[in-house]
Order: sequence, then structure tokens, then C-alpha cells
Amino acid sequence: MPKLGFEETLGREVLSKGRCVGCAACVIACPFGVLDYVEGKPNLIGECKNCGICSKVCQALEFSEDKVENLVFGRSRSEREVFGVYRDIFAARATDESILKSCQDGGVVTALLYTGLDKGIIESAVVSGLSEDKPFYPVPKLISKKEEALESAGTRYTYSPNLLALKEGVEKKVSALAFVGTPCQIRALRKIQEAGLKKYVKPVKFSVGLFCSESFDYHGLFETYLKGERGLNVDEISKMNIKGKMIVDLKTDRVEIPLKELKPYVRPECRVCPDFSAEFADISVGGVGLEGWTLTVIRSPVGEEVFESALDEGLIEIKPVREDDRALKLLVKLTELKRSRASKG
Ligand SMILES: Cc1cc2nc3c(=O)[nH]c(=O)nc-3n(C[C@H](O)[C@H](O)[C@H](O)COP(=O)(O)OP(=O)(O)OC[C@H]3O[C@@H](n4cnc5c(N)ncnc54)[C@H](O)[C@@H]3O)c2cc1C
Repeated sequence: MPKLGFEETLGREVLSKGRCVGCAACVIACPFGVLDYVEGKPNLIGECKNCGICSKVCQALEFSEDKVENLVFGRSRSEREVFGVYRDIFAARATDESILKSCQDGGVVTALLYTGLDKGIIESAVVSGLSEDKPFYPVPKLISKKEEALESAGTRYTYSPNLLALKEGVEKKVSALAFVGTPCQIRALRKIQEAGLKKYVKPVKFSVGLFCSESFDYHGLFETYLKGERGLNVDEISKMNIKGKMIVDLKTDRVEIPLKELKPYVRPECRVCPDFSAEFADISVGGVGLEGWTLTVIRSPVGEEVFESALDEGLIEIKPVREDDRALKLLVKLTELKRSRASKG
């Protein structure tokens, strides 16, 4: 029998090869509680019982897109579906003024959470909130009120291990929640589903995946670059966005930074991730090629149900996306770019 201990599997094949994204799936799934989350990575703090669960839930160790597609969507993607299985695609935006003021693109994520909470589809949601100590520092958060969803709207471009808040939800016996996360976290969620860990799978009623080219190291981006090299007062940042360049809005100023200047601060583990558009989420969202709207990819029947509920409630409005639209072309291009970068390792 091969040993399935943490050190022999994740330690050797994922951590030491720089492939661990820090999603924390192994940390929450370890049935013996001997994995801790330290500085963004799993850390063995007790005797490993070699049960092999951690290796089953690690999306960086092994991920069969075909298997997961069949598990989640009941079919594999067609050749046409370059960015994964989908049922529909729209440009969408929230109709609520307070969401539009706080959100990143069109506020679709927050509007979907409002719908879920209003309609009793969910009682809580796993999102990324903001730390009270450090500016723009993301922290996984379990929320249950619409005001909290609104407070966590907007994008932080550094890593937030949202699965840690899923664990909190399970410990608090939440029976219905939505999960918001980056593509690697959605992949981890699906690995947990594939491994049959029902206590984590059952409560997740729908997932919203965020498009993602990469995320940045917090210290590198904020301390070394924005504070150190650019001399910015990071306490005054009100919004950051990436639209071909990084746009940083401060209280009284706007700074635009070419992405190539930020390359040294990209988390190296993001370079091995092939998934731009959160291909295994129920609904995937991003701002590509749009201003003030969210490109929304509806992938699963449950995703469609939640989206239609939000439409029926008047919480979102939509406009069609055609094949020759800039947004769709960009989505295809960024999907291919990320896959090709990952294949080069
Ligand atoms: C690291 C990162 C990189 C991204 N890169 C791209 C990109 O290259 N191209 C693109 O089109 N879109 C990208 N996005 C997605 C985009 O920024 C928006 O999140 C998306 O368009 C939804 O906008 P919205 O207005 O509908 O969401 P909102 O209503 O503003 O809600 C955003 C949600 O995202 C959650 N969130 C914020 N920061 C994080 C985080 N660090 N980790 C996990 N969850 C978080 C919040 O909790 C909130 O619920 C990225 C997002 C992240 C987090």
C-alpha cells in the first residue's frame, strides 16, 4: 500500500514544487485536525495518520476537468465551450444604488447574495471581507445579513482563503450557504465534492466564481511597491481595479500602473493555475471588457435558478452578449492565455 501521508503527497508534490495556492482545502478537510494554516500554506502540527483525505481534496495535486464536469454539470464541455460548460452568458448589473456604489464591476455577486438571502435559498454566505488592521487586506468571512454582503463587495487582489470561512459555517451548523471565491477555490470545492465530504458539500447551495488572471502577494504589492516604490498612502485607497492596467483610486487621486511593473509581486503559484473563468462554479463573473457591468456566465441549473430569481426580483438587469462582443473575445483570449501559461509550468 502506498503511503498517503501529507508529507509524501502534498508536501513533496505540491508544497515543495511551489504549486500550493493556499486554498486551505486540505486544512479544513483533515479529519484529525493536524493541519494548520500558517502564512498562507498548510502546516503539519501533529502526527499524520496517513488517511489520504488531504491529497483527495487538493486541486493542485490532481484535477480531472472531465470528471468534475460530469459530476457537476452532467456532461463534458463541447469544443465550442472554450471557457467551460455554460448555459447562458449576459452582461448584468445590480439595480440597487448602494450596491453599484460599493461593488467592483456591476455588483452581480452582491445582488445574487441579496436574492439568496431574501428568498431563503441561503441563510449565510462565504465571502471575503476586509481586515480592520491592514488596508485592503482580505479576510474570509461568513455573513448572514445583506448589509454584510454590501460591506464585503468589491475586489481585493490579494489572496483570501475563503474555504476557512466555509469551515466556520459547517462548525456553526449553517445548513444553506453560498460560496464566493476565486477559480482555485471553486476547484477545491469541487474536489471536496468529488471526495464525498458531505458535511462541506451539503450546505453549499450555490457557488459564485470570480474570473482571475492572478493574485498578488500582499506584502509585495502594498508594502514594497505601493508604499515603498510609489510612496502612496495605502490607508487612503478607496478602490483598486484591473482594466489592462491597475487603477488605484485614493481619496483625492487616481494612479494607473502598468501591469508589467507589478509582475514581481504576482503570487508565483498562480502561474500554474489554468483556470481563468472559474470554470466549475454555478455562476462565474468578471469585469472583462465591460465598464460598470459584470460579465456573467451561468453554468449550472442551480446557477440559472438563482440568477432568474434575482432578475424576477428586479435586483439585476441584463443585456445580451454576442459572439463578436469585445467582452466575449477577451474572455476567450484570457482563458487561452492562462491555460497556455499554466502548461509551461
Ligand atoms: C484576486 C482576483 C483577481 C481577479 N482578476 C480578474 C480578472 O483578471 N479579470 C476579470 O474580469 N475579473 C477579475 N476578478 C473579478 C472581478 O474583480 C470582480 O470580482 C467580478 O467582476 C465581480 O464583480 P461584481 O461587481 O459583480 O462583484 P461585487 O458585488 O463587488 O462582489 C465581489 C465579491 O468578491 C469577493 N471578493 C473580493 N475579494 C476577494 C478575494 N481576494 N478572494 C475571494 N473573494 C473576494 C467579495 O467578498 C464579494 O462578495 C478578480 C477577482 C479577484 C478576487
